[in-house]
Amino acid sequence: MSVETSTSVVAGARSRLGEPCVLLKLGEVVLKGRNRDMFERRLQSNIRAALSGMGVRHDVRQRHGVIAVFLPEGTSVETADAVARRVADVPGLVWVHRAWRVAKDPQAVVDAALALVEDRPEVESKAGFAVRSRRRDKRFPLRSNELDRLVGGAISETYSLPVDLSNPDLTVYIEVDRDEVFVFTDGIPGPGGLPVGMSGRALVLMSGGIDSPVAAYRMMRRGLRVDFLHFSGIPFTTSESIYKAYALVRALDRFQGRSRLWVVPFGKAQQSIKASGQDRLAVIAQRRLMLKTAEEVARRIRAGALVTGDSLGQVSSQTLENITAQDDAVRMPILRPLIGMDKTEIVAEARRIGTLEISELPDEDCCTLLAPRRAETRAKIEDLVRIERRLDAEDLAVQLAASIQEYKIETS
Ligand code: ATP
Ligand code: MG
Repeated sequence: MSVETSTSVVAGARSRLGEPCVLLKLGEVVLKGRNRDMFERRLQSNIRAALSGMGVRHDVRQRHGVIAVFLPEGTSVETADAVARRVADVPGLVWVHRAWRVAKDPQAVVDAALALVEDRPEVESKAGFAVRSRRRDKRFPLRSNELDRLVGGAISETYSLPVDLSNPDLTVYIEVDRDEVFVFTDGIPGPGGLPVGMSGRALVLMSGGIDSPVAAYRMMRRGLRVDFLHFSGIPFTTSESIYKAYALVRALDRFQGRSRLWVVPFGKAQQSIKASGQDRLAVIAQRRLMLKTAEEVARRIRAGALVTGDSLGQVSSQTLENITAQDDAVRMPILRPLIGMDKTEIVAEARRIGTLEISELPDEDCCTLLAPRRAETRAKIEDLVRIERRLDAEDLAVQLAASIQEYKIETS
């Protein structure tokens, strides 16, 4: 049967290859000096959390400057690949390599390298290759350049491949560590940045649009754990925007795990703003009320900052004057990671992180309830404060914050 054949092929290869594992390269974490231990521990626990739902036994180990995820002997190549893809979403990691872990013996390294190259398309096309070795353990009998030559010689002899050190199509990496040697080829890029949780907690104002999910991603990547707050026009709009916010949070959850989404029923408050008669200021007045409400929620969940998807000049509410008027509404810092990005760049990033498709679904955003014919691009803070006094905005924000509903994120 074909199943048996393929199992025996994998088993045959494995006896030459050692144990499958996933080798993880850290980004800025390595620059953190005395805090480095803390960073590494946080990263390890985030990796464990990311893998916990997969039902694969694994052992996360710190090595010198790298982290290795050991998998039980007999783990299939497909499972090891799935583990690699899963951890490639963990912020703090720059590269993820499916690797083989072999004994600290030059012959074992040669065998693993030969087996790794065997199935590569470059063997067929006779493309140039290179071997790059590193010794983290200097007691290993061969120096890096000796190991390069030994393994390179074996590969070019066995497969008649030309060595090309300046621009190789295929690179075999060899890393000699304290207890083992890792042998691997190219990897998948990770998100980079810092481990989630390292920088504290923030609350993202999450619309159903393209920008705010990208803003959330950017801040998670800088080590913030984020919770999400969505304002829905309910009862004057349908629930579509809530479903979108939910789907977006679910898509972003793979970068941090345990995400939480709260929804504010905002329609009635919007009606009161509209009734105040200040048509041109309505959008900024509403945005300030959103921020005040978010600040109240943030205090309760011990978040230290708010995050929005604002980008300078993108729409009328995002002029310098209007951004100033928004900052004035709260005492908490408002982080705007997209402030200097072009829409095309934001869209490209949304596509890459998998949120664009969801953001592009139609919905009835609560903001459309208020869209005036001409929005003020230079809102004056005194005018806004006057509207807010009439509305009793501070009290209203407290009430709104008390009316939030949590939507539990179910991860697949
Ligand atoms: P987005 O694509 O994120 O919706 P946008 O380009 O549509 O942004 P605005 O509608 O002006 O711009 O919103 C600016 C920011 O205000 C959003 O990025 C988001 O952080 C916040 N925001 C807007 N509407 C909502 C909402 N309904 N719920 C929560 N936050 C919102
Ligand atoms: Mg929007």
